[in-house]
Amino acid sequence: MPAPSFAQRIILWQRRHGRHHLPWQNTRDPYRIWLSEIMLQQTQVETVKSYYLRFLSVFPNVFALARAPVTQVLELWSGLGYYRRAHFLHHTARRIVDDYHGTFPETEQELTELPGIGRSTAAAIAVFAFHRHAAILDGNVKRILARHHGIEGDPTQSSVEKHMWAVAETLLPKNNLPAYTQGLMDLGAQICTRTCPDCPHCPLRQDCFAHAAQQTALLPSPRQRQTIPEIPFQLLVIRHQDRILLEERRTQKIWSGLWSFPECAMGEDATQIVKQRFGLKACDHVVHTPVRHRLTHRLLIMTPVELHVAHERLRQTNHCRFYRHKEALSCAMPTPIRRILAKI
Ligand code: SF4
Repeated sequence: MPAPSFAQRIILWQRRHGRHHLPWQNTRDPYRIWLSEIMLQQTQVETVKSYYLRFLSVFPNVFALARAPVTQVLELWSGLGYYRRAHFLHHTARRIVDDYHGTFPETEQELTELPGIGRSTAAAIAVFAFHRHAAILDGNVKRILARHHGIEGDPTQSSVEKHMWAVAETLLPKNNLPAYTQGLMDLGAQICTRTCPDCPHCPLRQDCFAHAAQQTALLPSPRQRQTIPEIPFQLLVIRHQDRILLEERRTQKIWSGLWSFPECAMGEDATQIVKQRFGLKACDHVVHTPVRHRLTHRLLIMTPVELHVAHERLRQTNHCRFYRHKEALSCAMPTPIRRILAKI
């Protein structure tokens, strides 16, 4: 009898040891599967669970999500990070309702044409919802393939990634695509983890390159170090008694649609800015220790400047208002801003 293939071993292992009761499993509803796949991008399963259930209770289907104002979507997303995902989710819901009459397209090709759905996410939706024949290649799968096949090179580099896509496609089984795809995800999360993979319990150990060569710590090859730009700026924490001024961000750059403190460049006179932009007179100000926050492609260095003002009569009230401290904490705001607000 021939030895079981890579895919057969993954499928068998998944049935016995994989995860079967995550909130987004045991359904073929593409809306629920899509929502979970987007939330799980760059976020841990345990964190996603409560957000996913809360989101579904408010938006049980794509029509409810498409009808909602984006501010409500951002409020429910608040704290999950990578807010572009929430904007894309909302945008895609509207596209599905407007262009597809509320029915999700079934092919990877059509799915990747929707905002925020990359090739691997499209494949996962196509497999779980429609049982299509498609390969995923997320971070977990890249790690497994790099180790099992001994693929060297930074997996984020396009030539290495292209090679991995080709390998992932050749390994696909003819049947049981959902169990195989879930098995890869589970193996990456439970056994072939980033540090200390549990090789003795891995169904792939018999022919795993990294295990045999004792190279699990060397594969996948580390990312080439990139120097990312540092962006320093001041955050204006404008207070009147127990109330704080927040501004709704209208920028297309980061945190669009979220509430935050007004900002100004380093070196600018915060007291003058508050007077010119808001017509408020600051009685005193305190400069706090800068807070560093890493985004994917840049490092924010935010210096909170706390200013106490004599009244709340704003020169213009478009997209800004004073909130009580507790009320402010319930606004949709970026996590580092929420942390600063909670501390100050
Ligand atoms: S044997 Fe070890 S390194 Fe190889 S795939 Fe399994 S867990 Fe990963």
